Amino acid sequence: MSKVYDCIIVGAGPSGSILGYELASKGFSTIILEKERLPRYKVCAGGLPHRICELLDFDLSSITEDRITKIEFTHKLEDRYIFQNDEPFAYTVKREKFDYFLTQRTKKEGCEIKTGEKVTKVEINRDRVDVITSRNRYKAKILVGGDGVRSVVADKFHITRRAVTTIEAEVKFDDMKKHQGMMKIDWGIIPFGYAWALPKKDVLSVGIGALKSRVKNLKGYFERWLEYCGIRDQKMKVYTFSVSLGGLKSKIAGERTCLIGDAGNFVHPLTAEGIYYGVKSANLASIAIEKALRRKSYNLSEYQELVEREIYPHFKKLYLFSGFLYTFSKIGYTIWIKNNRTLFKYFFKT
Ligand SMILES: Cc1cc2nc3c(=O)[nH]c(=O)nc-3n(C[C@H](O)[C@H](O)[C@H](O)COP(=O)(O)OP(=O)(O)OC[C@H]3O[C@@H](n4cnc5c(N)ncnc54)[C@H](O)[C@@H]3O)c2cc1C
Repeated sequence: MSKVYDCIIVGAGPSGSILGYELASKGFSTIILEKERLPRYKVCAGGLPHRICELLDFDLSSITEDRITKIEFTHKLEDRYIFQNDEPFAYTVKREKFDYFLTQRTKKEGCEIKTGEKVTKVEINRDRVDVITSRNRYKAKILVGGDGVRSVVADKFHITRRAVTTIEAEVKFDDMKKHQGMMKIDWGIIPFGYAWALPKKDVLSVGIGALKSRVKNLKGYFERWLEYCGIRDQKMKVYTFSVSLGGLKSKIAGERTCLIGDAGNFVHPLTAEGIYYGVKSANLASIAIEKALRRKSYNLSEYQELVEREIYPHFKKLYLFSGFLYTFSKIGYTIWIKNNRTLFKYFFKT
């Protein structure tokens, strides 16, 4: 009879790696199944808000690309406003390095990681879960979907997505000095979305995103934003990817299975920032999974309760607020972004 793991996690993104680390460190046999070979590129601006330090028990400095102490806001490319702080609001990372760093740390803790194995089917049975990949069949007591916005595990939950389509490119500059330490955000350049530019050591991540149901011709808006950022003839690879905003309550936990990170829509309802909430959801899931494994009763409703207490109330406020900010972008920009430091700190929490 083949091995029955305590937990199988699908996906080696930040949420999957953090959960794998936590379960392995408590002595549970845990395996992560990842379809890509690592390190892998991931479309992402790589901005980590300072508040993530509260959740991580390790130092980020070896993988930090830049420390953001200035944010340049504009509304429809005008009405420039700079917000500045002595301490960083945020840090930037390259996802290929950040995610790889997390997986190596998780592996050292004793979690198995199989890469290049795409999960094609999951079966939740009464006495165990079966996970079928392109190469093998695995068995476990518990299955977790940390497999992003197109999660195969989420098929078991009928999750409603609020899809945002994004376009992003990483642009090389000979002289990155003028971009360093500063993030740019334009509010209003595109209906129901925004544009950003975040510096890394050697490239600027430039992108734009908007609710898929509300915007056409994203490319046209993206070109305007590139021009504003002074990008004309530089060579770049342009990526399109989607992310699904949080804000709507969903069932994300059940018998022997649950969802974390993007798979469970744990993404900031206004900014689409998801790494912090991916880590936070992994932390909450590990509490419930540990208890379930110890009592040998595998319903994960405690995770659902933890999420409803610690994430959903905050998301509900942001969801309602984002409706207002996106609909009345000028009022939102003037009152809430330019003149309300309390709100600003609420987002970035320095
Ligand atoms: C353009 C863009 C910019 C963004 N910028 C930011 C930002 O600046 N800051 C921020 O916090 N967030 C940002 N986000 C959101 C952020 O990228 C996600 O919220 C974050 O990656 C979620 O982590 P995760 O671990 O849940 O999922 P992911 O990072 O998506 O990882 C999922 C993993 O699962 C694997 N996988 C998927 N399907 C399978 C399968 N069937 N079998 C095996 N493996 C599978 C994937 O290969 C992947 O490695 C951005 C998103 C986009 C699109």
